Amino acid sequence: MRDFFHRRGAFRPRLADDQQPDQAIPEDLWTKCPRCHELQYTKELERNARVCPKCSYHFRLSARARVGLLADPDSFVEWDPEVRPEDPLRFVDGSGSYLDKLARTEAKSGETEALLTGRAAIEGRPLALAVCDFDFMGASMGSVFGEKLVRTAERCAELGLPLLTVSASGGARMHEGLFSLMQMAKTVAALARLGRARVPHFSLLVDPCYGGVTASYATVADVILAEPGALIGFAGPRVIEQITKQKLPEGFQTAEFLLEHGMVDLIVERGALRAGLATLLAHYAPAVEQQVPLNGHLHEPALVAVVESGAAGG
Ligand SMILES: [Zn+2]
Repeated sequence: MRDFFHRRGAFRPRLADDQQPDQAIPEDLWTKCPRCHELQYTKELERNARVCPKCSYHFRLSARARVGLLADPDSFVEWDPEVRPEDPLRFVDGSGSYLDKLARTEAKSGETEALLTGRAAIEGRPLALAVCDFDFMGASMGSVFGEKLVRTAERCAELGLPLLTVSASGGARMHEGLFSLMQMAKTVAALARLGRARVPHFSLLVDPCYGGVTASYATVADVILAEPGALIGFAGPRVIEQITKQKLPEGFQTAEFLLEHGMVDLIVERGALRAGLATLLAHYAPAVEQQVPLNGHLHEPALVAVVESGAAGG
């Protein structure tokens, strides 16, 4: 009898495949929160708009998930999906050619560019959306990204449609060199024309927003919103510390720091975004409907009051 127990270890029953220790929890069933390190049931996290229920960390969203979250159901109509990036410099680096990288990214993400544009409605109020997809080459701004944004701004001016840009980006797309840097001037010029047509541009900055996108169209809006905790800047903090040889202040480049220093007008929790945007659209509606051809930017007194009260509330 004793022998029987001693031998038991050698005859362990084989576990079924789904009970093998390393496969017992499929990778996508649970998601670990990078801030509080709690494991969240992924489906539960999706139901909560990918905001951690424990610490309110805002996970990244794909462009289509963002549109699904913001726009009224079935209201989104995509613009310019057929405009695709090209390779003007025949760029090749250590990981291969730019064209191969585009093909791989397209196959993985199902998107053809890092910017998704179209018209939609929020609580029944029409607007245009231009949303970055960070999973597409870090949502870097190449010439097609810029072109899609400019076409969107031009349609907005023509139709009197307010524009909401949602930006998370690593900056200019280095594979397109100067062609990508030129998009900074091109997009800002288009938005200046939109301002002259007295059509509002709202910019929502989400984590992470850096480089040529922060330095161009994303920060020339009438109202700049940000999600809590989003990192927003031009160069990264390590680069700045190395160059200036100075220690940066606590919380540098967070949305909260930028709100305090006047770069951001409002921080809005993801769950409150739709309602907040509907309020902004309502405040701007009279200006849009009047279509008075005036130079300069819009500064509705009512909106300034909203922004100030929102900022004071944190
Ligand atoms: Zn958390």
